[in-house]
Amino acid sequence: MARRAAILTFLSILGPLAGAQNNSPVAKPPKMPPRPKLIVLLVVDQMRADYFEKFRGQWTGGLKRLVEEGAWFRDAAYPYATTETCVGHATISTGALPAAHGMISNEWFDRELEKTVTCTDDSKVKNLGYAGASVTGGNSASKMLVPAFADELKSQTGSGTRVVTFSLKARAAITMGGRLGDAVTWFDADAGAWTTSSAYPVVEFVEEFAKAHPAAGDYGKTWTPMLPASAYLYDRTATGAVPPAGFGAAFPHPLRGQQDSTGPDPVFYSQWHTSPYADTCLTRIAETAVDKLELGARAGTDFLGVSYSSVDYVGHAFGPRSWEIQDVLARLDQDLAELFRHLDKKVGKGNYVLALSADHGVVPIPENMQKSGMDAGWLSIESVKERIEKSLEPFHYAKPAVADVSASDVYFTPGAYDKLKKDPAALRAVLEAIQSVPGVARVYRAEELEDRPGTQSPMLSAEAASFLKARSGDLLIVPRPYWPWDSSTPTSPRQYGTTHGTPHYYDQRVPVLLMGYGIEPGEYFQAITPADIAPTLAALTGITLATHDGRVLAEALKRPVEARRPAQLTRPKSAPAPAPTTNP
Ligand SMILES: [Zn+2]
Repeated sequence: MARRAAILTFLSILGPLAGAQNNSPVAKPPKMPPRPKLIVLLVVDQMRADYFEKFRGQWTGGLKRLVEEGAWFRDAAYPYATTETCVGHATISTGALPAAHGMISNEWFDRELEKTVTCTDDSKVKNLGYAGASVTGGNSASKMLVPAFADELKSQTGSGTRVVTFSLKARAAITMGGRLGDAVTWFDADAGAWTTSSAYPVVEFVEEFAKAHPAAGDYGKTWTPMLPASAYLYDRTATGAVPPAGFGAAFPHPLRGQQDSTGPDPVFYSQWHTSPYADTCLTRIAETAVDKLELGARAGTDFLGVSYSSVDYVGHAFGPRSWEIQDVLARLDQDLAELFRHLDKKVGKGNYVLALSADHGVVPIPENMQKSGMDAGWLSIESVKERIEKSLEPFHYAKPAVADVSASDVYFTPGAYDKLKKDPAALRAVLEAIQSVPGVARVYRAEELEDRPGTQSPMLSAEAASFLKARSGDLLIVPRPYWPWDSSTPTSPRQYGTTHGTPHYYDQRVPVLLMGYGIEPGEYFQAITPADIAPTLAALTGITLATHDGRVLAEALKRPVEARRPAQLTRPKSAPAPAPTTNP
């Protein structure tokens, strides 16, 4: 309220001055096109909110500019449990929570198909590789149960809106681009190729880009620290890091594929993913889209979505307390500076609105936490499975009783959970068995979470916001804080140094910053969620979402009060001033 009153006072001072300059008794409304020309949505995969607090001093480019010129929400967090890439992107994109948009995790066990499916798997479409690459599989937004903001923008404005999205990951590009995307592009690491699917148009400028700037062009480069050594926090070698093949535990990291390789191979592409070069490539392709499609330069509001995936790969490998994560961010800061300059030039400063957020945070590497004396460890998914089976032996259940444990979600074989629900002793044995696995905090039953019950419990509410009966498990496990999921089995070792995906605040908390058209710069401390981004963009573009769990971030929107309150501005001087109101 105080801040709003301050803004109103500020405007009422500025208003008459501006009016005097224009030789007019009434202030002119601020010059603002009726709608932004371009919406830019940037998602930095796995970017913790506190990176802005800890590493800001290392930034001189786009991330710094966002803080200085944008609205910075310092207490933003996902209000649900499954803090994963597909879920976060779908939430930002739709303004709905997973219980509504249906993208409850990156993958889930499909009870009908009796196998694990990814959130974008679609057997009715075929992936298509650019530049002649042959790729497999099929991906689309068919499993998303709520339209993307970009879909709504395109269908409601009806004025030639173009929707373009890029990411290394299909689940990011697709959830942002929705069903009506005009160019939805991701990177297939097996084929080393930019890819789309038959659900979307194949576009010429991506084909040209893929031919002219192959990722393979970065083969042979060595990733070394960009900043002076004294600029980095923490140790040069991160305890517990699990780098990709061919990278060591500390800088420098050569991108040369597997040993004895003579050219780009799948190991090289995994190194490329885990390097700043992929972010730079995404920036270049986004700029090419702006140029070739004249985004933001024609009638209508266009949409550009870019999800920077490398921060996630680097974070999984080296953790949030590494030189590598600081370096990949410092370089992203430079890439974003370049992207913003490009947008200023081609679209015009003030003509586009930009939102930056992340799909989830990450937990520090448990071994690193243990070193500092904290309670931390790995929660073994394999142990959960084994102990449930063992607990049911005395009750003579058919083996296996468990169809799948996909981290938090336990799926029983057909009929087994219905039987358990009528068999309190066996169910108790199962619940106790899960509770006995090191790192388990508690277990919810599906029945407790259906229909998003009204509750005082933040944990129950977070679990329910992630729950969709047709896709979620029969039992839902909550790990203890700092006990991430370990997906290793006796035959396959763990492929990551750390991870995310829990209802704990370090996984839920993310940055949210808005900049440009219609945005009032400043720092905002209200608790918000990334589901508020789409409703805010909808408010700025005058469109209506079908459903939203978020709200309009009205506190960060400029109020052109002069335009809307002619009565107040022309009132006689003798009249008493009305009390400031917040709702014109
Ligand atoms: Zn991740």
